[in-house]
Amino acid sequence: MSHSRCLPTLSRLRTLPIARAQGRLDASHRSLVALLALIAFLFFDSAAAMAQADEASRSSTNAPLRLLIVDGQNNHGNWPKTTVIMKRCLEASGLFQVDVARTRFTWQGDSLLKEFPLEDGVTREATQQPKPDPDFAPRWDQYDVVLSNLGFGAAPWPEATQESFENYMREGGGLVVVHAANNSFGDWKGFNQMIGVGGWGGRNEKSGPYIYLDESGKTIRDTSAGSGGSHGAQHPFLVVLRDRNHPITKGLPQTWLHANDELYDRLRGPGENLTILATAFASPDQGGSGRHEPMVMTVEYGKGRVFHTPMGHADESVQCSGFQTLLVRGAQWAATGQVTTEVPPDFPTAEESRIRPFQP
Ligand code: ZN
Repeated sequence: MSHSRCLPTLSRLRTLPIARAQGRLDASHRSLVALLALIAFLFFDSAAAMAQADEASRSSTNAPLRLLIVDGQNNHGNWPKTTVIMKRCLEASGLFQVDVARTRFTWQGDSLLKEFPLEDGVTREATQQPKPDPDFAPRWDQYDVVLSNLGFGAAPWPEATQESFENYMREGGGLVVVHAANNSFGDWKGFNQMIGVGGWGGRNEKSGPYIYLDESGKTIRDTSAGSGGSHGAQHPFLVVLRDRNHPITKGLPQTWLHANDELYDRLRGPGENLTILATAFASPDQGGSGRHEPMVMTVEYGKGRVFHTPMGHADESVQCSGFQTLLVRGAQWAATGQVTTEVPPDFPTAEESRIRPFQP
């Protein structure tokens, strides 16, 4: 190893310690193996230690998960209010820090927009018809999970934003879909794969089968022709858990009474990697399909996780303690794959729905 002495001074200084170490190692092959093992041990050990420190730092500071609500265009004119109710519910869990990304052109909800302004310094324009926002490009990578409170009629996102969202999800992002969010983007293939099933927005047999459960609890994928999405009269209805081992539903009662809501039925879509965790019977007496319709679903999209509930039509629907419990659990699961919250004492029973009154 003496040739290292011929190197220029700077290189010599840099290489000298290695040359010395190598000189010693030449004396014993076993020492080399031992040193490599030590380096490997130190490297992997320090990598593991750094990961542990990162996790410890996150838990010691109780760093909240970052959740982004996207909204701005929804045929449900109460959307500015339901965004605030869901934001508060998620933040009250102590698990989330919530931001809102709102399209520059808003559709519906004009009066409630004045009552519940976003105050993010952006000037928005209410339009008579949904209008694409060419600048809508949230930084998905800054969030653990995205919640869509967009609805029927929402104008398509710019193509680049659709692509960046698909990439975000494929790489392990999280998505929460509430009620009419499954009406949006009927023509966007990637989005329909994420939500599993949807309604309206031009959905029909080309979108995928109707998916529901029959009387025996078997999942039916019905490819018959027809439009996707309908509902009967609003009413309180019984939610039936079909999988009580999933982190989202674990510990919840088998059946519970959901507050007044619109019971979406005849949803259809690709339904790939779809798990139905809970259903509700859409009674023909209320104008429903007579089927057990999916009410709580998960979808895997690449490495991403999706929590989808068609519940949440009206203000009181999203004030239901059952809805709010599932929202928090579903969002945490979509963000992390785990659920750490207990079942709250005010969770609905099979006989009684429970409302958490919203204070503006
Ligand atoms: Zn609705």
